[in-house]
Amino acid sequence: MHQLTLAEIARGLADKSFSAEELTTTLLARINSLDPQLNSFITVTDELAVQQARAADARRAAGESGALLGAPIAHKDLFCTQGVRTSCASKMLDNFTAPYDATVVAKLAAAGMVTLGKTNMDEFAMGSANESSHYGAVKNPWNLEHVPGGSSGGSAAAVAARLTPVATGTDTGGSIRQPAALTSLTGLKPTYGRVSRWGMIAYASSLDQGGPMARTAEDCALLLQGMAGFDANDSTSIDEPVPDYSASLNASLQGLRIGIPKEYFGAGLDPRIAEQVQASIQELQKLGAVIKEISLPNMQHAIAAYYVIAPAEASSNLSRFDGVRFGYRCDNPKDLTDLYKRSRGEGFGVEVQRRIMVGAYALSAGYYDAYYLKAQKIRRLIKNDFMAAFEGVDLILGPTTPNLAWKLGAKGNDPVAAYLEDVYTITANLAGLPGLSMPAGFVDGLPVGVQLLAPYFQEARLLNVAHRYQQVTDWHTRAPNGF
Ligand code: GLN
Repeated sequence: MHQLTLAEIARGLADKSFSAEELTTTLLARINSLDPQLNSFITVTDELAVQQARAADARRAAGESGALLGAPIAHKDLFCTQGVRTSCASKMLDNFTAPYDATVVAKLAAAGMVTLGKTNMDEFAMGSANESSHYGAVKNPWNLEHVPGGSSGGSAAAVAARLTPVATGTDTGGSIRQPAALTSLTGLKPTYGRVSRWGMIAYASSLDQGGPMARTAEDCALLLQGMAGFDANDSTSIDEPVPDYSASLNASLQGLRIGIPKEYFGAGLDPRIAEQVQASIQELQKLGAVIKEISLPNMQHAIAAYYVIAPAEASSNLSRFDGVRFGYRCDNPKDLTDLYKRSRGEGFGVEVQRRIMVGAYALSAGYYDAYYLKAQKIRRLIKNDFMAAFEGVDLILGPTTPNLAWKLGAKGNDPVAAYLEDVYTITANLAGLPGLSMPAGFVDGLPVGVQLLAPYFQEARLLNVAHRYQQVTDWHTRAPNGF
């Protein structure tokens, strides 16, 4: 039963091949026996899951239907879940029980989804390897000595290992797409404003966006359907109608213009990944797509701009963790300053502290123009590059990551080496565009992902192309050994 995709689960529940309760208990047993190898969950919500599953079965028995009714999910541990610890993988929030549900959690629960638990992540979503968690690193199910990517590494590992059919993730600079690539999943970062950020603990508010992580594009379509939509509680939520994402999955790709940015294939890209990307381009050509070379000239400045803007916003967002209102408080503070200093110094890990310091520095009076303002100007140039490119193409394609999943600890002492892994993903966050990573092969037993980028609100096009590709390839169907 654990091999079923979300779409297959929906059919199985509808035709009563199994109940939500049976499926839930099967997956909880798998989590209990297999997750110690992976460390993909911070909290398993056994009791809540069984309760929700029974309630979903009762709703079905009473005549209700719906693709998500009774289907299991795990939430990244930065989505607030009422009555359940929501830790952001930080010692700072280890003792924090959320008093309310994030909009995404509430919407999916209302649709009848069953919450199996909360997944591990990089602390406050800062990282690309899922090694900065207070609860320890997550292992990649494809090779337990390698990282699963980050920051949604727990969600990625759990879905890849068939512990849950789908999970939520968030993507500030690549944290859905990069771990999806490194674990052979399909992961979608929606257009900024498409999915509510309310109740999603903030890292960098102008970049953060929640989205679905699944094995197939078809499943991402079903899950996004339940997540997307206007929310008056999020001031950057956009009031655009939500299309039926499943309806256009099978649309023809005949004549679809795909742009390949020449900058994506320069030095720094593992040539074995480049080969797999070329092979995926050929598959899409066979399906009728037309390939054009394009240029995104300002891409080279993206990492520098991102690592000013994201820390700047983080330094402001994380100022609320002061040891007074909620979260960690140091023992026996001498006075108020000591309380602030030690609560934050003891509660935050090293990467989070590094980002807060970088951000506060970039925003300080003497450096604001030189760093923050400059980075915002680059952000606009990057957006303009995309707008110009989308005048001639319908979609942009390239590798999701420059390298394969690396060994645990390999980049531990070199934060900049980890930052460089985001080179292909962060431009979409800076521009607010939707992006998807899909499985496109293996090198040495480790997964390779291909990234698709589309104009604003064209999530359906991304899902359509990925779905058509998945009908003629089988990378997304393969399971890691032992799972
Ligand atoms: N790796 C990037 C960072 O550390 C992106 C993380 C994310 O998307 N949350 O900021």
